[in-house]
Amino acid sequence: MSRSSRSALIDAWVRPEVRALSAYHVPPPADVIKLDAMENPWPWPGELVEAWQAALSEVPLNRYPDAGAGELKARLRAAMGIPEGAALMLGNGSDELILLINLLVAGPGRVVLTPGPGFAMYRIIAVNSGLGYREVPLAEDFELDETAMRAALREVQPAVVYIAYPNNPTGNAFNRDALARVIHEAPGLVVVDEAYYAFANDSFLPDVLAYPNLLVMRTVSKVGLAGLRLGLVAGHPDWLEELEKLRLPYNISALTQASANFALDHREQLERSVAAIVAERGRLAEGLAAIPGVERVWPSEANFLTFRGPAGAAGRVHSGLREHGVLIKNLDGSHPQLADCLRVTVGRPEENARFLAALGQVLSG
Ligand SMILES: *Cc1c(COP(=O)(O)O)cnc(C)c1O
Repeated sequence: MSRSSRSALIDAWVRPEVRALSAYHVPPPADVIKLDAMENPWPWPGELVEAWQAALSEVPLNRYPDAGAGELKARLRAAMGIPEGAALMLGNGSDELILLINLLVAGPGRVVLTPGPGFAMYRIIAVNSGLGYREVPLAEDFELDETAMRAALREVQPAVVYIAYPNNPTGNAFNRDALARVIHEAPGLVVVDEAYYAFANDSFLPDVLAYPNLLVMRTVSKVGLAGLRLGLVAGHPDWLEELEKLRLPYNISALTQASANFALDHREQLERSVAAIVAERGRLAEGLAAIPGVERVWPSEANFLTFRGPAGAAGRVHSGLREHGVLIKNLDGSHPQLADCLRVTVGRPEENARFLAALGQVLSG
């Protein structure tokens, strides 16, 4: 088949909104200090790795996984304190859950609404699933603009509102009372995305049944298991019963289930590293604020810090750090409120020290 007839076919059949998207860009793996993706920087100690491999060797790969992931769900329920009476569904990362929630409500004129700057996948997955997308700018200090949010709820009548709590890429948890009023006023579903719950001081999970329209989403990615791809959504059984109809059978592989069960048997390993990350976050914030040229470091309840550098310098800072072997995320250009901003994941103490030293050199050069 000729190239031109193929491109004509693609033009004719691929949805125009998908044609207009570009695929989510992830930098290729490289030998760098990787502080760009909110990963837990601590690998497991050798003896734990051996025990995990032994557990995996028991998994019968010729068999389909437990379709309901019953054992894993029971353990997650206990580990995460899912309220009694709430139901649970697992996804291949919370990204898959966002897609399934969108498919639950998608249709002509249906819209996803979210405060911004926020998590990039909300827009991408909204478009993927055929939904409109509307972003309400955050207030000056990255706080929820409650008045603007409530006006947008009335005007747009969104099918789903996504709110990351704490927010990515700004790191703050929005005012709880304002968020509660937004949930109360929303005409459709509200998904509170608690990807960073482990590093924060508050949660809507205990209240998930207190609102008729609330779902709470979590993931194990940021606490140390990003490679597994495992997220969960909790909510009233009536909502979850509908969502279950969209979940593809066996979406959580047998290896993921076995690995997550193993990790939950050794939770203290993850909990220790989360506590260390929170302690390091404070030191890193102080170190950053002390570097000449760092204009602002925002307070964070997550495992990353967002900071503003000199005007017009974010690209040079990002590539200069890369030349020093440190990879962070350049936020400049992604949103008007993020001009000159960059985001750094909290790493191990020696990684953070290398980052701070390199940043000092780049900014003084
Ligand atoms: C990282 C992140 C996620 C991604 O979760 P996965 O479970 O890895 O798909 C979801 N929401 C927010 C706000 C995030 O920052």
